[in-house]
This record gives sequence, C-alpha cells and structure tokens, in this order.
Amino acid sequence: MSRVFLGVGSNEGERLERISSAIRALAATPQIRVVQMAMIIETEAVGGPPQPAYLNTVLEMDTSLEPMELLNALQRIEQRLGRLPSTQRWGPRPIDLDLLLYEDRVMQLPTLCVPHPRMQERRFVLEPLTQLAPDVVHPVL
Ligand code: ADP
Ligand code: MG
Repeated sequence: MSRVFLGVGSNEGERLERISSAIRALAATPQIRVVQMAMIIETEAVGGPPQPAYLNTVLEMDTSLEPMELLNALQRIEQRLGRLPSTQRWGPRPIDLDLLLYEDRVMQLPTLCVPHPRMQERRFVLEPLTQLAPDVVHPVL
C-alpha cells in the first residue's frame, strides 16, 4: 500500500455535497482506503476567470493503485460528479481531485506530475495538508 495525499476542491453547485460524494466514491473503490480528512476551508479562487469561492480540503489515503491508475480513477470520479472533460483550465468546476503526493515519488509525465507542481504555492493545500501531516516533507523542495 502507498500513502497518498489528495487535494479536493469544489466551486460549482452544492459544493459540500460534491465533496461528500467524491469521498464516498473514493472510499467505495476497493483499492483505496481513506485514512483521514482535514478541515474544509472556504477560499477565493486563484487564477483563471472570475468565479465563485471554493471549498477545499485534503485527504490522506492508502492505495494499491499505481500513480497513473489512481489518476484515472480520480478522473472517472470527477466526470461522474459532473465535471466535463473540456472544462477550461482553472475555471469553475463541480469537483477537482488533485494528486498532491504519492509516497516520495517524483514523476513528470505529460498527464501526471507528482508532487503536484503548484501545491507549494497554494495555501488552500498547505494548510489542510499540514493539519493532517505536520511532518510531511516535499520530496524535492
Ligand atoms: P488544476 O487542478 O491544476 O487546477 P486541472 O484540474 O484543470 O488543473 O488539470 C487537469 C489536468 O492536470 C489533468 O488532465 C491531468 O492530466 C493533469 N495533471 C498533472 N498532474 C496532476 C496531478 N498531480 N493531479 C491531478 N491532475 C494532474
Ligand atoms: Mg485538477
């Protein structure tokens, strides 16, 4: 099993319901065990067009999925919860599931960068993450 941290965000529709549904879908995935969730915080959107505020949190999970398999699972859940594949970058979205850390793996594929390339500049990631794992160390920075 590998320890992973996931960034979760929503700024469209019933945000809290979307986040709960995403967590239920993750927990229902046989290869995933949800370990703990940080506080949910409300944050103004960063970058992109003007858009509603987000609810954000971070999840700690154990998984037997490899990083690309996990990304595919996350994207299936995003789509099931109403996210369109063509949604504009950094635009409003009903749900956003970002793989922040996968053990201390470092990978740079066209469709998957781990650690998440912008996690270190996002307070809405760092605050919940340090709440869950105050000792966690970024494998590069
Ligand atoms: P962001 O989450 O940075 O606001 P998007 O969710 O719109 O941006 O970006 C989605 C794309 O980012 C996906 O198509 C995916 O292939 C790519 N991506 C690269 N690295 C990651 C990662 N660590 N977690 C999630 N998606 C990633
Ligand atoms: Mg994303």
